[in-house]
Amino acid sequence: MLFKKKLLSSEDEERLIKAIHDAENKTSGEIRVHIEATCKGDALEACKKLFADLKMDQTKDRNGILFFLAIESRAFAVWGDEGIHKKVTDEFWELITECAISYFKHHDLIGGLEKSVEMCGEKLQLYFPLEHDDKDELSNEISY
Ligand code: CA
Ligand code: CA
Repeated sequence: MLFKKKLLSSEDEERLIKAIHDAENKTSGEIRVHIEATCKGDALEACKKLFADLKMDQTKDRNGILFFLAIESRAFAVWGDEGIHKKVTDEFWELITECAISYFKHHDLIGGLEKSVEMCGEKLQLYFPLEHDDKDELSNEISY
C-alpha cells in the first residue's frame, strides 16, 4: 500500500498562504485553495461542493473564491460566490483558468495558483476594497 504522501512541500504551502495573505490585504474578499491528489468527475462540480462544505458561502459580502486543484488528475477549477460572480463575467473565470493551466503546462503548479490568487485579489479589490474593520472570515490555510 502506498503511504499517504504530503501533497505540497512546506515551502510551497507557505508560498501559497503568503499569496492568499497578500491578496486579502487589499480586499474584504476571502480566498482559499484546496488541494487533492485526484478528482473523479468534474472539477468544477467538486469545487462547488467544497465551496459549500468549507462554508465559504457564509461570508458577509458573499465574496469568497475557491481554487481547486487535483494534482494527479491535473484537474483545476475556480468558483466564486454570488457577490463577486455578479460583478465579473464568465470570461474572468475563464481567464483565470487559462492562466493557471498555462503555468501547469510548464509544471509550475504553485506558480499557477500563486498567479491566479494574485489576479483574483486584484479583481476583488476593485469591487470589495479592504475595510478598516476587516475580518479574516475564512482561514488562509490550504485545505486538503
Ligand atoms: Ca477578509
Ligand atoms: Ca482569509
